[in-house]
Amino acid sequence: MTKKIALLGSTGSIGRQTLEVCGALGIGVEALSANRNVVLLEEQCRKYRPRLAVCMDREAAKTLQIKLSDTEVKVAGGPEGLMECATLDGVDTVVGAVMGMVGLQPALAALREGRRLALANKETLVCAGDLVMETARRYGGEVVPVDSEHSALFQCLQGCRDRGGVKRLILTASGGPFFGKTRAEMEHMTVADALNHPNWSMGAKITVDSATMMNKGLEVIEAMRLYDMPLEKISVVIHRESIIHSLVEYCDNAVLAQLGQPDMRLPIQYALTWPERVPGPAKELDLLSCKALTFLAPDPENFPCLALALEAARRGGSATAILNGANEAAVGAFLAGELGFGEIARRVEKALEDVPAVEDPTLEDILEADAAARQAAI
Ligand code: NDP
Ligand code: MG
Repeated sequence: MTKKIALLGSTGSIGRQTLEVCGALGIGVEALSANRNVVLLEEQCRKYRPRLAVCMDREAAKTLQIKLSDTEVKVAGGPEGLMECATLDGVDTVVGAVMGMVGLQPALAALREGRRLALANKETLVCAGDLVMETARRYGGEVVPVDSEHSALFQCLQGCRDRGGVKRLILTASGGPFFGKTRAEMEHMTVADALNHPNWSMGAKITVDSATMMNKGLEVIEAMRLYDMPLEKISVVIHRESIIHSLVEYCDNAVLAQLGQPDMRLPIQYALTWPERVPGPAKELDLLSCKALTFLAPDPENFPCLALALEAARRGGSATAILNGANEAAVGAFLAGELGFGEIARRVEKALEDVPAVEDPTLEDILEADAAARQAAI
């Protein structure tokens, strides 16, 4: 079981819940990082007493340094600060909970140190999954998923000695706030509409991804990379209640599912304690108070982002980095009020058309594809 962590993205939704789990389980916190939320990062430093605190934003790092001058906490800034956080000695698990592709290089660095990477930051696997998994293999690191669906699959795959015995991975999707709407009805949805998720309270970007259903597309690619599965062996089912977090169908037609309250503290905790299980803060599931559990087919016509993600997965190579870069840029512009909701899918589609993909991309190819896709999208 993990004894000490470094936490990338501590001020976010996953970051805050990770600290709650660490507090409850007595896991040490050696390093924390944020972008520019200095107020919360200072508070976290005073409570958890890490050795290192990092702000990606250099101005914010300077402010934090002044605020923490009465403590022993070392403060660093910029991408090299993030790398220091990812490779700090004496840490056994690095939690990747930053938002976006910016988490990729620190994730690779942690794996090169042979650490466990408890990974929430799905963009990393979408952009460079093969590279991440190969780095883990080569340096003796390991990637343990935090994303609830992938944690559910991971749990249902425990004891499975031969992946050849797996017929299908089934990812569940809540359907998001716009479930049942047509593309035309969604065209002019506002930021407030998109941020109103029915079951989960998450960061802004992933909440918009849930509204477009890009999130589920990203998760299909994430599952392909984590579990080395072809696209044809992964399916998506809409499950509005978010009680079943995903399922594995085996070749004998046994289907294993993981159930629980929609509470990220459970998958976060499992990524820290695996292969052990210990009592923790996640909410208990009372089956008798569950209403009916329902399942429906997804609707890629009205949710074109899902179809685009599957298309990028089919193309392979750097196409998934193009998909992700364009989506990050378009969602950022939507959140800034510069783009309509319906434009997100069109911008991603345009980037996939305009930017050429390469097979077997290197890290440089991926960084280039990401930059070109962002430019093509806005
Ligand atoms: P939030 O937006 O709540 O938090 C993001 C964190 O990353 C914050 O600490 C933020 O710092 C930091 N950050 C943002 N931009 C940068 C940057 N450019 N450089 C360095 N740090 C940065 O996101 P979530 O916690 O919701 O999500 C984090 C990741 O986990 C995402 O990849 C998401 O897809 C994934 N995930 C989240 C789930 C959830 O329930 N929230 C579920 C499954 C996966 P600051 O506060 O200073 O901006
Ligand atoms: Mg998820």
